[in-house]
Amino acid sequence: MAQGQKIGIVGAGLSGAVIARELAEAGYEVEVFDTRPHIGGNCHTERDAETGVMVHIYGPHIFHTDDAEVWDYVNGYQTFLPYKNRVKTTSQGQVYSLPVNLHTINQFFGKTFRPEEARAFIEEQADKTITDPQTFEEQALRFVGRDLYEAFFKGYTEKQWGCSPTDLPASILKRLPVRFNYDDNYFFHKFQGMPENGYTDMIEKIFDHPKIKVTLGQHFDPRAPHDYAHLFYSGPLDGYFAYEFGRLGYRTLDFERFTYQGDYQGCAVMNYGDASVPYTRITEHKHFSPWESHEGSVCYREFSRACGEDDIPYYPIRLVEEKAQLADYVARANEEKAVTFVGRLATYRYLDMDVTIREALDTARLFLAKSKEEAAMPAFVHAPL
Ligand code: UDP
Repeated sequence: MAQGQKIGIVGAGLSGAVIARELAEAGYEVEVFDTRPHIGGNCHTERDAETGVMVHIYGPHIFHTDDAEVWDYVNGYQTFLPYKNRVKTTSQGQVYSLPVNLHTINQFFGKTFRPEEARAFIEEQADKTITDPQTFEEQALRFVGRDLYEAFFKGYTEKQWGCSPTDLPASILKRLPVRFNYDDNYFFHKFQGMPENGYTDMIEKIFDHPKIKVTLGQHFDPRAPHDYAHLFYSGPLDGYFAYEFGRLGYRTLDFERFTYQGDYQGCAVMNYGDASVPYTRITEHKHFSPWESHEGSVCYREFSRACGEDDIPYYPIRLVEEKAQLADYVARANEEKAVTFVGRLATYRYLDMDVTIREALDTARLFLAKSKEEAAMPAFVHAPL
């Protein structure tokens, strides 16, 4: 495939931006389309006109990674300033520290344990009859025991996923550590920070290349005739095939925005563990930019629910019974020629931003290598199943 040929990219989020840039630098003309009026996908940030606060329009995004190349990559387009995600949770009438750590355990059980004592105590709470946890609930009962599970995970997870934790895979809980020290940094990665001017500014700079043209507010039908040598598609996988096998399950979020004069909750993220509170968390966005100071504050109450046809898909659910439907879509996608499915929506996976960038870089590099040897590019570089 000769350089100078045109490449089409559907979706102006992180995947689309990184692939566009890599290919533009290699000499391709790249055209990017997004139905939304802005770039950045769900990472989109915008400065609030009323308060001046940088708002994560589609909910909080915190950059954390162990991948030094990805960290260097994002720092090439934006200064990342120090930010540690210290999440609190309100449960059963008290405020606790997350992820579950020594402070949480001591406060919850009214103890003054040292690390090894806490470890032994939690091991006593754990259900040791579960040897190979498959579900979210089994994973929780095995590793933290029933009391902590019910206070911090059960209600939150029922609200977040709209189903019983017995129907969810253990992998969701594996995202959260349990610590036997006082480390309350939500993430355990070497690099963590926030882009000084927001994610949209960073992504704008990634797109800023003479060989990249971005068209916003325009639906691009990837199956209609076009003259692109190859398409990278980052929209929903089921949407590409006009939902012919039905809709893959997603959760969507509703945000109830409110403003406040001063400091509403003293932290960026306050989770609500009780099932009786209808929202999962409140985010106070000025705390995501601790180097800025604002009198006014913008907060979001976050509600999770099943994603309908006209809603924005956020979290892929991936229930066990959805696997067969997903397999049908994957088989159809593998029959397509000159299209590669990339990112969270097109591969129907729960992806962090750093993983999205890593995969996009690898995808672009594979494309360049395949083009050189005139070999076909696969539909998936990172398979959904
Ligand atoms: N979770 C929970 N209680 C909490 C926070 C998280 O039970 O207070 C569970 C919940 O099922 C959630 C998963 O752990 O979906 C992963 O949490 P994370 O904070 O990584 O979710 P995200 O910020 O990506 O929504």
